[in-house]
Amino acid sequence: MIKRITTFAFSVLLSAATMAQTTAPAQNEKAPQRMRNQPRTFTLTVVDAAKTKIDTAKLGAAFRSVYPPFAVADGYRTKREVTMRIIDTAKTFTMKAVPGEIVANGKWLKNKKNLAAFQQLLNDALHKNWTSVDTIKKDGYSLVFINKNSNFDATIQKNLIETYFEVYPKLVSMFNDKATHDVVFVTDTAYNGVAEASGNRILFATKYMNKFPFDVDVVTHEGMHLVQGYGYSYGRDLVWLTEGIADFVRYKYGVDNVGSKWFLPSFKAKDKGYRDSYRTTARFFEWIDQKVKPGIIMQIDKELRNGTFKDSTWKDLSGKTLDELWAAYSADPVLHLIYSSKNV
Ligand SMILES: [Zn+2]
Repeated sequence: MIKRITTFAFSVLLSAATMAQTTAPAQNEKAPQRMRNQPRTFTLTVVDAAKTKIDTAKLGAAFRSVYPPFAVADGYRTKREVTMRIIDTAKTFTMKAVPGEIVANGKWLKNKKNLAAFQQLLNDALHKNWTSVDTIKKDGYSLVFINKNSNFDATIQKNLIETYFEVYPKLVSMFNDKATHDVVFVTDTAYNGVAEASGNRILFATKYMNKFPFDVDVVTHEGMHLVQGYGYSYGRDLVWLTEGIADFVRYKYGVDNVGSKWFLPSFKAKDKGYRDSYRTTARFFEWIDQKVKPGIIMQIDKELRNGTFKDSTWKDLSGKTLDELWAAYSADPVLHLIYSSKNV
């Protein structure tokens, strides 16, 4: 039997932002870091084992209009290499699909009239695991909430949405008014972390959110990642800085850090230093803000986004190198901290 194999490859570039993950409160272990927001390449390999010859260019175009938008919203673990098998089979079979794999009846597909139906059926099949999709718009901002877990608590969903509209517009206007106003939240049942952001999407692990329903300021941390948009130029070296700033912002602008028992850990002599990232770094940044000069971290964030940040920026802004700042912090780390609470 002759099999025609055709592979299409194309890239879908997500809107620019750098991303990362939130660590769980009360857990010290860090989730593995990944560089996100790289251009995404999708491939479609058509294995045509049918006697009919399919117009693969038209098929590729139909696929392209459905699959990448689905996969980008669905999550970055969603398969990007897709195999499509064309088979000869019983008349009633049209096609079936799961992420990464499509099977279609060659005879049915060869009829050009069925191409639109193929597109629709592919779309429906792929979105089968989406329990609900809600779009909420308010004051120039929108949120599409895709829930993929039928057991996800509706109250948590409501609270995450409320936190988005309360915090995110504030972060955009304060830090980066060019950041997207259209955000997608996705709940993911398979994800074992907490949450992560890339492009304009924030992914929430439902296992985590069901266990820590009050941790609504995951939205603040991840929302800040969307606002940061530092791009790729700094590489992995600055993951600690990106995460430190996101937790610093959560400390300052989070809506209920008390409710989620989220605190900045007291300085300990054994602390690994500013590169410890997340809350250790956030506390250090708050110390700089209080004891050295207010606004330095905000300026660092701006320069990271503008591409003007250098190691010497710390000294330019504060008169001290980063190591000198840490040494001064270590010598006198006492801080007065005030945490946000919904119950005050
Ligand atoms: Zn993060």
